[in-house]
Amino acid sequence: MPQAPERFDALIIGGGVIGCAVARELSRYRLRIGVLEKQPDICCETSARNSAVLHAGYNNEPGSRMAALCVAGNRGFDALAQELDIPYKRTGKLVVGFTEEDREALAAMKQAGTRSGVPGLELVSKAFIREKAPYVGGEFALWSGSTAILNPFRLVFALAENASVNGVQFFFNSEVTGISQAEGLYHVQTAAGAYAARWVINCAGLFSDAIAAMLGLRDYAVYPCRGEYFVLDKRIGHLLPLPVYPVPNYKTGGLGIHLTPTMEGNILVGPSTEYIGARGDYAATRRVMDTLLQEGARIFPHLQKEYFIRNFAGIRPKLTPQGVGGYHDFVMERRGNAIHLIGIESPGLTAAVPIAHEVIRLLQEAEPLREKPAFNPRSKRFCTFADKPAQEQAELIRQNPDYGEIICRCETITKAEVLAAMRGPLGASTITGVKYRCRAMMGRCQGGYCQTRIARLLQQEKGIPCDQLLYGRAGSNLFTGSVREP
Ligand SMILES: Cc1cc2nc3c(=O)[nH]c(=O)nc-3n(C[C@H](O)[C@H](O)[C@H](O)COP(=O)(O)OP(=O)(O)OC[C@H]3O[C@@H](n4cnc5c(N)ncnc54)[C@H](O)[C@@H]3O)c2cc1C
Repeated sequence: MPQAPERFDALIIGGGVIGCAVARELSRYRLRIGVLEKQPDICCETSARNSAVLHAGYNNEPGSRMAALCVAGNRGFDALAQELDIPYKRTGKLVVGFTEEDREALAAMKQAGTRSGVPGLELVSKAFIREKAPYVGGEFALWSGSTAILNPFRLVFALAENASVNGVQFFFNSEVTGISQAEGLYHVQTAAGAYAARWVINCAGLFSDAIAAMLGLRDYAVYPCRGEYFVLDKRIGHLLPLPVYPVPNYKTGGLGIHLTPTMEGNILVGPSTEYIGARGDYAATRRVMDTLLQEGARIFPHLQKEYFIRNFAGIRPKLTPQGVGGYHDFVMERRGNAIHLIGIESPGLTAAVPIAHEVIRLLQEAEPLREKPAFNPRSKRFCTFADKPAQEQAELIRQNPDYGEIICRCETITKAEVLAAMRGPLGASTITGVKYRCRAMMGRCQGGYCQTRIARLLQQEKGIPCDQLLYGRAGSNLFTGSVREP
């Protein structure tokens, strides 16, 4: 007799920021919840590849879901960050202009933002730009006081860890390949086994249209649109205290090549906007790199190639095809007991928790949900050694000598922190899993010194054979066979 599939109240497909936010918010209720993720970890796709800006909401059409949920996400972030220990900074943001056409566009953006309830928008002079960001170009600007920068990895991991603490089960390497319905349940086939659930929540990002099609909803097509970035060395980080954007040409489908400081003091330059054929094509191309340099230098004249330490790309799951461009509103549709979230492009990171609240509202239209009194809303970061005063560091080393061994020299990440990243129910089992959780390998040498040590620790800690060790996503094997001992 074949085994009956494991049964859940709700199965969430996709472990990006949206799936993890839905999982965490649903874990407030008495439900058995599972997350099915095709990659070996959470946060492997778009949620790890973006500008990491907590948007204010003035870029989106007033009255749209995008605008309303972005404004709500921005407003609610202080409380969320406190509960889940997410590093962020309300830096504010400048959208700089040079021409009379730009001035009109900025006035229109301010008007749109005001209609959507965005606080702290102001048209400002060159003197204001100089005061806030002395090394930035521009004749005038739109100032957005509520815009912030955040650590996007911590946001996703904190949501997932907190969901896990509150009972949500995560299944990795579990690509959903088919869904059928029988006896009031969805029967979900994955690469790793079968599951059944009363509810399915489609948070599959770039593949959300494919999951929708499995459930008979064929109204939407996702068009992948790549954005490439450069990461700049911390040496130049102090010259850019806040995100600086050009006036966007919304028709392209992006916000223009901007410069954004990261929480840790690097600068991101990008992203480009390019419709591509393949959804998994994260290539960073020479052609676009040159454009980034040229356009970035227009608003940040100190930009030079010598500061570049890495490049990467993210892919927008757009619902508007090439030639049409622009933005389609977030799709959030309930069909039967399936809820589809499709086309969750920017500002999806900002809007993730309000999107999850909307999912709960849709669910509650069909059945009442009972709150779980034992829900624990808190989560704590483990990786803070570098920020502590010397005395506290010494005490940590006394308690645990692994704090006394620095694995990542650029970012001062200790062995204790690297091991913590691998441990626990949602511990990392890949190189990027470690990197995103504790920042090891994100410094100037980009893992040149520590990646091999981390690979060895992963093998020891998780018992992963050499030829099965992954860099990040499925198929990214680091070695083809066993490797000689050092
Ligand atoms: C270049 C760029 C810049 C951006 N900048 C910002 C910004 O500054 N601020 C902001 O608010 N937003 C920004 N965004 C938007 C934001 O990053 C996204 O809206 C958000 O990350 C989408 O999250 P997600 O969970 O829907 O998708 P993802 O993170 O892609 O997660 C979807 C998950 O579903 C899984 N999956 C897919 N198919 C299956 C299947 N068949 N079975 C099981 N699992 C499956 C995938 O592996 C993936 O892990 C940006 C996006 C891009 C591309």
